[in-house]
Amino acid sequence: MPSETVDAIVLGAGIVGVSAALHLQARGRKVALVDRLPEAGGETSFGNAGIIQSEGVIPYVFPRAPGDIARAALNRDPRAHIRYGALPSIAPALVRYFHFSTPARKNATAKAMAPLLAAASAEHVKFAHAAGANALLRGGGWIKAFRSARGQDILYEEAEELKPYGVRPALLDRAALTALEPHVGEKAIGAVHYAEPLTTPDPQALTQSYAALFVKRGGRFEIGDAMSLEPSGAGWMVTAASGRLAARDVVIALGPWSDALARSLSLSLPFFVKRGYHMHYEANGNTGLTRPVLDVERGYLVTPMARGLRLTTGAEFARADDPPSSAHLDRLEPFAREMFPLGPRKDSAPWLGRRPCLPDMRPVIGPFPGKPGLWLDFAHHHLGLALGPISGRLIAEMMSGEPPVVDPAPFRAERFA
Ligand SMILES: Cc1cc2nc3c(=O)[nH]c(=O)nc-3n(C[C@H](O)[C@H](O)[C@H](O)COP(=O)(O)OP(=O)(O)OC[C@H]3O[C@@H](n4cnc5c(N)ncnc54)[C@H](O)[C@@H]3O)c2cc1C
Repeated sequence: MPSETVDAIVLGAGIVGVSAALHLQARGRKVALVDRLPEAGGETSFGNAGIIQSEGVIPYVFPRAPGDIARAALNRDPRAHIRYGALPSIAPALVRYFHFSTPARKNATAKAMAPLLAAASAEHVKFAHAAGANALLRGGGWIKAFRSARGQDILYEEAEELKPYGVRPALLDRAALTALEPHVGEKAIGAVHYAEPLTTPDPQALTQSYAALFVKRGGRFEIGDAMSLEPSGAGWMVTAASGRLAARDVVIALGPWSDALARSLSLSLPFFVKRGYHMHYEANGNTGLTRPVLDVERGYLVTPMARGLRLTTGAEFARADDPPSSAHLDRLEPFAREMFPLGPRKDSAPWLGRRPCLPDMRPVIGPFPGKPGLWLDFAHHHLGLALGPISGRLIAEMMSGEPPVVDPAPFRAERFA
C-alpha cells in the first residue's frame, strides 16, 4: 500500500475538522482531512438548527431544583427526554453533569466561553467570504418565544444574566413579535429577540463550502477510518482508501465519535452525548418564518431551512448508539403545530444527531496529554456549528506556537484529571 507524508492530518470532516484543516493550511501546512464519509458535514454538522449562537454564553445546565429534577426524571418536561432503558449506562454521566451544573460552575463556563463566542461569527464570515458562500449566512438573529408568565420570567432572567457579557436582546410583546414573524401563532404571547447572531439555511452546505475552499487551496480530502490511527516513527499514521498517510501532527475532530478514539489511546474523559432529532415540514399556504424561533417552555425550535421548516428537538438522554426513536419528536410536534404554521412532514423518518458533550459544557481544545503530535478539538455540545471556525483557529495557533486568540487553559483535557 502506498504511503505519503503530509504535515498534519485532521480526523473528521464536520464543521470542527474542516475549520481546523483550513486554519492549519493557512499557516502553510500540507494538510489531509480524513473522514469515513465521501462528503464533508454528513453527520452532526448536517442536521443542526443552524444558529451561530454568538450570544450562547450561558451553558445549558442540568436542573438543580428538586421539583424540576422530578419532572425531568418522569419525562414530564418536554424540553428533554430520557430513555429509561439506557439509565443504568448513562446515570454516571448525568450525575457528573449535575455536579458541574452549580451556579458557580455555570458562571465559570460562561466566563470561559465568552471570548470564544465573541469571535465565532467573525471567523465564519471570513470563511464564507473566501468560499463564496455569503448567501449561506443570514442576518436577522433568532427569537426565543414564551407562552406564559413563567416562560417570560425564564427568558427575562436569562437576558439579565447575559448583560455582563455585552448581550442586549430586545424584549418583544406579541405585537412586536408578529411584526417580525407574522405567522407565529397566538400561543406565543411575547419573546426575546437576539438580533446579532447569524444563522444558516443549510448547515451542511455551509460546511461543504468550507471543505471545497480547503480542497481548492490544495488540501487533500481522503476517505479513511480514523480508528486506524497508530504511532509511526516520530509521528502518526492513518490508513486511508488511497493508501497510508503519515504526519507529525494529528487533530482528533470526530465530534461524537472522538471519545472512542481518545479512549483507545488511553485518554478517559467524562464524555457523553445529548441526542437530538430534526424533521422538516411544509409551511401551510403562504406562511413561513424568516428566522429560527424557540418555544422556550417546550424546548424545541423551528427554523426556515432550504428543505422546509426544520423542527429540532432538545436533548434525548440515551446511549450514543441506541436505535432512533420518534418518541421525543412525537411529543413535541403537537405543541409545534399550535404555535407554527406546520404542514405535512417532509422526511420519511426523523434525523438523529448526537451533541458531543463534556459535563462542564466546554469543548476540549488542545494537546492530547502525553502524546506529542496528537491534538484534541471536540465536544462542542450545543454550539459546534458556531464554534467550529474559532476552535480551528485556536488549535492551529497552539499547534504553530502562535499567541492564542483566547486563553486555551479552560479547554485543556487535564481539567478532568
Ligand atoms: C438537533 C441539534 C441541533 C443543533 N443546533 C445547533 C445550532 O443551532 N448551533 C450550533 O452551533 N450547534 C448546534 N448543534 C450542535 C452541532 O451540530 C455540533 O456541535 C457540531 O455539528 C459538531 O461538529 P463536529 O464537526 O464536532 O462533529 P460532526 O459534524 O459529527 O463531524 C464528525 C465527523 O467525524 C466523522 N467520523 C466519525 N467516525 C469516524 C471514523 N472512525 N473515521 C473517520 N471519520 C469518522 C463523521 O463522519 C463526521 O463527518 C446542534 C446539534 C443537534 C443534534
